[in-house]
Amino acid sequence: MSLCLYAATTSQGKLRDFRVAARAFSVSIEPLPILGEIEPPEEDGATFTANATLKAIYYSRFAPGEMVLADDSGLEVDALSGAPGVRSARFAADAVLVDSSDANDNTDVWNNMLLIQRMVGISPPLRTARYHCVLACAKDGALYQTADGTVEGIILEAPRGTGGFGYDPLFYLPELDKTMAEIDLETKLTLSHRGRALAALLPLLLVRS
Ligand code: IMP
Repeated sequence: MSLCLYAATTSQGKLRDFRVAARAFSVSIEPLPILGEIEPPEEDGATFTANATLKAIYYSRFAPGEMVLADDSGLEVDALSGAPGVRSARFAADAVLVDSSDANDNTDVWNNMLLIQRMVGISPPLRTARYHCVLACAKDGALYQTADGTVEGIILEAPRGTGGFGYDPLFYLPELDKTMAEIDLETKLTLSHRGRALAALLPLLLVRS
């Protein structure tokens, strides 16, 4: 492997998405080893790019000389002017529908309920949305490169399927006639907005290295 990226994530799902996308390149993706010991930065950016960038710069200071990868992602609904966007994880919490200390962690359920409610009366052609991921790469506290990946879909009026997480039961893929919560993992990996962002980022990094 000619290049190693240290991903600032403990999510096995995200690491898997990144590694599948990195297979086609001579690049290895490893979790940033000391991540658990670092106080996370506040993700207060107004855009995915701002949040991914601030995280990559922040974490790169803890791994001198290494290339550090950070991501930010979420759901953009066109009829809601791009909401929930950077607030995707906290959509219902922002609307004070869910207490962030909820021990049962029903956050996804509440987020989906709020999305259904906000989309009432919006006709099918106007229910377009996308998962959007921005990746940022930084070294020694300096931003090196960013890249985007998206997957397009339609927001359903009611959830379908039991797989996935987040907004997947409402996120319908017309070409597959399934929601993200109804497709198998292998298919999902081929559609991943994180994987697509990494596939866009790696050629840019390799050309510069
Ligand atoms: P994160 O920034 O990647 O942790 O994502 C923030 C939020 O966006 C998550 O908590 C989910 O609500 C939503 N999200 C991001 N990616 C996905 C996905 O692949 N499926 C479902 N929801 C997602």
